[in-house]
Amino acid sequence: MAGLSLQRHGFGWAVFGPDGRPVSGVYGDIGLAEVRLEQLADRAEAAARRSRRDCLSCGASFMSEGFHHRLCTMCRSGHPRARHGW
Ligand SMILES: [Zn+2]
Repeated sequence: MAGLSLQRHGFGWAVFGPDGRPVSGVYGDIGLAEVRLEQLADRAEAAARRSRRDCLSCGASFMSEGFHHRLCTMCRSGHPRARHGW
């Protein structure tokens, strides 16, 4: 869950991060705040999966979105860096 939690904030509810600071706006309805909490948790999970990898094709270092993602943006788009003489 990436350390996110729902807490009362002012007159409503907000999503708080692991450092105890609000990471969302304030919602008057806890149901809306819960939806926001899920969105933020999903995003944090996706970010955690990303890491820097070396492209299998040209060897350039790039930000990978997951295990399946092993080619840099240039190679995925069909324009390998090598072709440009980089
Ligand atoms: Zn590449």
